[in-house]
Amino acid sequence: MPIYEYEHIEKPCNMGKIFEIKQSINDKPLSKCPECNGPILKIMSLGNISTTKSNSELRDLGFTKLVKRDDGVYENVTARNGDSRYMLRDKPETIPNLKKTIAD
Ligand SMILES: [Zn+2]
Repeated sequence: MPIYEYEHIEKPCNMGKIFEIKQSINDKPLSKCPECNGPILKIMSLGNISTTKSNSELRDLGFTKLVKRDDGVYENVTARNGDSRYMLRDKPETIPNLKKTIAD
């Protein structure tokens, strides 16, 4: 079952301000905390946010997105012309040219 995150709109209780609940996809989103009955809001997990935009959209928006491929190895999935596709922690010349990005 997927895990959903909820946040207390008012006072947090023993569950914490933000807490996770396992729910079936078919379950309706909760509006009350099962612990304190306080009003809660379903929040998007970070995982969802990062997938709302495709890599090319991010690039067009001027973001540089690095995906870790190995220890010390990052792939620049938003590489622009002239950027190195892979970035190695030990090789500064492979780090994206951020100055150029800002100038654009
Ligand atoms: Zn609560």
